[in-house]
Amino acid sequence: MHSNETLHKDHYDEFRLYKMMVNASLDSITLIDRNYTYRIVTDAYLNAREIKKDRILNRSVEDVWGKEAFHNAIKGNLDRCFRGENVTTRASYEFRKNEINYIETIYTPCFTSDSEVSYVAVISRNITELKKSQDKIAFLAYYDSLTNLPSRPLFLDLLNREISSAKRTGKSVAIFFFDLDEFKKINDSFGHSAGDNLLISVGKRLKNYLRPSDIIGRVDWLIDLDQKHTDNYLARIGGDEFTFIIPDISDKKYTTGIAERILGLFEEPFQITGREIFISTSIGIAFYPDDGNDVETLLKNADTAMYKAKEAGKNTFRYYSSDMNEKAKERMTIENKMRYAIKNNEFQLYYQPQYYVENSQLGGMEALIRWEDDELGFVSPANLIQLAEETGMIIDIGEWAIHSACRQGKIWHEKGFNYIKLGVNLSVRQFYDLKLVDKIRSALDSTRFDPSFLELEITETAMMFDTQRAIAIVDELKEMKVKIALDDFGTGYSSLVHLKLFHIDKLKIDQVFIRNADFDGRDGAIISSIIDMCHKLNIEAVAEGVETKESLDFLKKINCHMAQGFYFSPPLSTERFENLLMGQSRRF
Ligand code: C2E
Ligand code: MG
Ligand code: MG
Repeated sequence: MHSNETLHKDHYDEFRLYKMMVNASLDSITLIDRNYTYRIVTDAYLNAREIKKDRILNRSVEDVWGKEAFHNAIKGNLDRCFRGENVTTRASYEFRKNEINYIETIYTPCFTSDSEVSYVAVISRNITELKKSQDKIAFLAYYDSLTNLPSRPLFLDLLNREISSAKRTGKSVAIFFFDLDEFKKINDSFGHSAGDNLLISVGKRLKNYLRPSDIIGRVDWLIDLDQKHTDNYLARIGGDEFTFIIPDISDKKYTTGIAERILGLFEEPFQITGREIFISTSIGIAFYPDDGNDVETLLKNADTAMYKAKEAGKNTFRYYSSDMNEKAKERMTIENKMRYAIKNNEFQLYYQPQYYVENSQLGGMEALIRWEDDELGFVSPANLIQLAEETGMIIDIGEWAIHSACRQGKIWHEKGFNYIKLGVNLSVRQFYDLKLVDKIRSALDSTRFDPSFLELEITETAMMFDTQRAIAIVDELKEMKVKIALDDFGTGYSSLVHLKLFHIDKLKIDQVFIRNADFDGRDGAIISSIIDMCHKLNIEAVAEGVETKESLDFLKKINCHMAQGFYFSPPLSTERFENLLMGQSRRF
């Protein structure tokens, strides 16, 4: 039997031993009461935070650490256990100063009566080292340590994610599978370390190239792509095997241009330990959902397609499906012919007249490209321009078009038709070409065409692509006195903000509003309000696609400035346009 005194002494010993034990812990431990006041703090806690015991004991959390810390950490969470992780760089707060520290904190409510929380035990520890090793393990598991690119598991994860999202959007996902041609020879003849360096360089070159801004396909697709973090979409999944995912592709044919450009990347040699090494690659392409519904099938089929490319003689690409291969072949034929056509001066400009609605007088013209190939026949300008955009040939073709149009414009001005305005179209790539302004200046200088008669037609989509830059480009052009027309208005964003941001001179209402329009109904209402707005903003309105007298009458009624369309004339060859001009002059 214990005496009261022994009992008391036992308790006292136990209490001291507890205290010793808790203090021995490397974790920071505190006990907070219902009023958020520190009641117990351990030495580890005080040391870690470099704070004196009397600065903290019996004071509230808010008092000691400020309101914000108090709210973040404690408030509202008193009644349940939870684990929090926070990142801090606060020097006085952690073991390692001026470095990012990860702190794990566990809040455990303690009950002294039945239901009420009386205290909260707060136990925290620095888990920075653990975090670092976890990150390292994750990196090793998900990334290839040679090229720092994602490795197979991460690639499969990403592909899976893209498939799920494509299921929702109904779009396609493209999987490119590359295998370097005769990589083994490099290893055999130059050694493995040269082989490794080559893989690193190939990875870098591909990664650099596959940035969204370089993959200009169609702008809408590009914008989609830009919003995703495509950094991870290039992976190295095996020895000399790389993969690349293009998510949300709206039209599969854009992949042809991308594949061609990737092959083009290998035309330049790689500099490996002081020597130039040439290597090529074979590419296989498969699509979700047409070539498979799951990652394994898609990867297998992209691999099969890559073998087709190898069989076809390497340094080329093949699709898994044969109809895509047919289409790619067709496209490449047109492309080759186009390259030849640029050199051979096979393109022509036609001119479509624009008339003042008020008096049906000729006031301007739009230069439109025409190409007729012996085998292909007449190639539609829309297709031609799109392909030229995708391949980059538009830069040369566009420069030629601006130059030729200005030269012809000058001839007609000199022949006395010096009131004629000249519209020239600019596509997206052309518009953002860093040398655009110089090229236009040089076209104007060398032809001596009056800049105030040149109207560059740009679509809203183009302006949208990089609004800040677009505004700067437009301003620079306007400084040269060149006029800006917003083309195809009504088919794209039709945003009034653009009218406010861009100082445009002319607005071309798209044909879809004019052709077959119901002028007494909604079409009419839309057109007349666009025109009202133009009047107020001092912008000239041009209606495109005027095919009937009825349209013209309507446009007259609502004071539309100018009109263009088959009712007046289709686009005409230089000769025929000149005849028209002569006839026109007689009418004056
Ligand atoms: P756009 O700039 O909107 O040109 C007007 C298009 O409408 C022309 O088609 C013209 O032939 C057609 N059109 C004119 N009046 C009528 C009409 O009353 N009814 C109908 N149904 N169509 C009419 P085109 O020549 O086939 O050109 C298509 C597009 O190709 C052009 O659209 C323009 O965006 C682009 N394009 C043409 N030439 C060039 C060029 O030299 N450079 C660039 N970058 N783009 C060009
Ligand atoms: Mg146009
Ligand atoms: Mg147009």
